Amino acid sequence: MSHSNDLPLPPAANPPAWLGVMGGGQLGRMFAHAAQSMGYQVAVLEPAASCPAGQVAQRLVNAGYDDAAGLDALAAQCLAVTTEFENVPADSLSRLAQTVFVAPDAQGVSVAQDRIAEKRFFVGCAEKSGVLPAPHQVIASEADIAAIADELLPGILKTVRMGYDGKGQVRVTTRDDVRAAFAEMGQVTCLLEKMLPLAYEVSVLTARGHDGASVVYPIAENVHRDGILFTTTVPGPNVSADSAIRAQRAAQAFVAELGYVGVLCIEFFVLTDGTLVVNEMAPRPHNSGHYTMDACITSQFAQQVRAMARLPLGDVRQHSPAVMLNILGDVWFDGASDEVREPAWDQVLALPGACLHLYGKDEPRRARKMGHLTLVAATLEQAQQQLLAACAILGIAP
Ligand code: ATP
Ligand code: MG
Repeated sequence: MSHSNDLPLPPAANPPAWLGVMGGGQLGRMFAHAAQSMGYQVAVLEPAASCPAGQVAQRLVNAGYDDAAGLDALAAQCLAVTTEFENVPADSLSRLAQTVFVAPDAQGVSVAQDRIAEKRFFVGCAEKSGVLPAPHQVIASEADIAAIADELLPGILKTVRMGYDGKGQVRVTTRDDVRAAFAEMGQVTCLLEKMLPLAYEVSVLTARGHDGASVVYPIAENVHRDGILFTTTVPGPNVSADSAIRAQRAAQAFVAELGYVGVLCIEFFVLTDGTLVVNEMAPRPHNSGHYTMDACITSQFAQQVRAMARLPLGDVRQHSPAVMLNILGDVWFDGASDEVREPAWDQVLALPGACLHLYGKDEPRRARKMGHLTLVAATLEQAQQQLLAACAILGIAP
């Protein structure tokens, strides 16, 4: 399948057309910046009255993700609609697709928003992609818990829907742990995944156009802390040429199989024995792709614009080694104190190659993503040195 929107393919949407985005978070904000810099006008649909993307878009449609009037207003104004939030109801994207070009479409988004559908998709594609997901089992009842295969423990119990940044996940060692965790999560359907011995984690950012052409960015190496992305380093110091090629091939197999249009990011694990395992995918630009804003010819957000506007995709070449550091609300607090103070941005910005992105969120909270800092340099070693300096200024343990 090459095109699953309901409409015949329209021509490219040139600026100053209106482009719409479902969701008002930081990804929507950076999408709006990229679209506006190319001369587009941006409308955001978001239920919250105050949001990072709403501050910069030309129009904020303040409505729920399933609000028919809001969706119709967005569709009436825009030549194309995309999404920045992967839990947008698939029905809403289908409704939009009746009158406007939607990329990615409801099918691509719905696979990524349900861990069971996602695992099924990965398993179904294994021959083409050459990779498998972690061994897993659906946990929907007490009987499922009794039937857990020994080899799945120790494992991680993950809610099937709405998980992000390690939320909706519990590490479990015994069937009793699973029982307790399942009860604590309100008995919503979960997936139990075997805990794998990770050597390192990588992600592959890819984009596919309406014409079927696709591009793959350089592979990124990711370090997580407390279930939240901590740093992304490109080129990845641990990434072997062989695992990079395998991951990039797998990513292209996934977008082709989905007939996907837009930016898709796929997370992989590399195990201590070198096995490549596919973890999950996001049907939108991804936190691990933020480095592209400062280190590649075409950022992931500019690429999202190009794909939805049915323009040719941009050059994914990386011109500088880069390290991206997520900035969480923690850096607004001094140790355990509750007092909020602004970090020393002037000192951070004095570092050579420092590119600061703050998302305009009003209230810093611990573990909340407030922004990111990308350090670009002539060599990876220099970028890593600047990362250490930035961590020292911000009071982050490196
Ligand atoms: P995201 O913020 O990427 O949406 P998420 O909450 O959806 O995250 P996952 O990506 O599934 O969650 O898991 C978060 C992190 O937990 C992974 O990046 C990895 O470090 C660890 N992890 C998840 N599953 C496993 C596993 N099966 N074995 C070992 N570690 C795992
Ligand atoms: Mg993840």
